[in-house]
Amino acid sequence: MPDEDERWMREALVLARQAADAGEVPVGALVLQAGRVLGRGYNRPIGSHDPTAHAEVQALREAANLLGNYRLPGCTLVVTLEPCAMCAGAMQHARIARVVFGARDAKTGACGSVVDLFGEPRLNHHATVTGGVLAEECGRLLSSFFSAKREAARAAIGRLPGPPVEAPDAPA
Ligand SMILES: [Zn+2]
Repeated sequence: MPDEDERWMREALVLARQAADAGEVPVGALVLQAGRVLGRGYNRPIGSHDPTAHAEVQALREAANLLGNYRLPGCTLVVTLEPCAMCAGAMQHARIARVVFGARDAKTGACGSVVDLFGEPRLNHHATVTGGVLAEECGRLLSSFFSAKREAARAAIGRLPGPPVEAPDAPA
């Protein structure tokens, strides 16, 4: 199973790179059923003007559409970044059986990093969760995306027209 997880995570990474190419935070996701891909998605909230357009939601929509069923029992969702609360909720509504994720997300992760929605006994659906699959590669893609963005922002500031910055007066 771990080898299979890595294989699918590599496919999700290909989708994540598509997001990066479109200027979106690089996250990719797949929905699988018995070794067959039913849905693919990459993060694109900016381009689609849609705060719900996370990779997982895109992949769930495609899979549900294909099966003609809003429930996806027995399916596995593979995603390069730990799902947020919205996506974890969507997976619970879809009755996803298993979640496999790559890098942890200390800011919005809902599989244990900030909250653990799949471990919350008061919620009525539980998936088994495997985290940290190709975590380094998934995380590296995100950090290089953000550092390139910061670099571009710094370069843009350097090009802004404006008065020269004056040094503060030296104390007398
Ligand atoms: Zn999400």
